[in-house]
Amino acid sequence: MNKITQAEIIMEFFKNNPKRDIHHPEIVDWVLEEFKNRTGKIFRDPDRQIRQLHQNGYLIKIAKGVYRYDPDFVEKRELENFNQAQKEIILKRDDYRCVICGRGRKDGIELHVDHIKPKDKGGKATIENGQTLCSTHNFRKKNYKQTETGKKMFIRLYEAAKKIGDTETMKFCAQILEVFEENDINGHIIWKK
Ligand SMILES: [Zn+2]
Repeated sequence: MNKITQAEIIMEFFKNNPKRDIHHPEIVDWVLEEFKNRTGKIFRDPDRQIRQLHQNGYLIKIAKGVYRYDPDFVEKRELENFNQAQKEIILKRDDYRCVICGRGRKDGIELHVDHIKPKDKGGKATIENGQTLCSTHNFRKKNYKQTETGKKMFIRLYEAAKKIGDTETMKFCAQILEVFEENDINGHIIWKK
């Protein structure tokens, strides 16, 4: 039996139909039947697999249930990822330590090479745009966008209250902002007391 994976069979369909908007039923019917013919197995939840390929940058989402494969786009995306040689240079430059907390391989910490300016904001795979982060700080950077908005909001409120001498509101904001600082969250946003 053929050992093709679910992702491979979906990509096979899209690669045979490049630069064309593929509506959901067209691919699902084909994939379900082909997968069964080749592997004897049932392909469960092709939607999820298609969404995942989109999230990983292989497919472009046109609308709900409509995806497109564009080889030029995929190639461009792949250029934005650091290659192994670049990763090694960046890790070495940062002394194999997280640039935020300083923990590193010697402490048994898993390290990631991160885009300083994110890929989805046009960040490129250059040595200058790379930094070493531990798993924790990599997670925070990718997921703490919302808390950034919150911190900025309390800084603005603190400053507005300061202008009119509202010490109670200042105290309230200061307490919250101190929690950010104690936990080292969004440290790149500076609160001037
Ligand atoms: Zn760290």
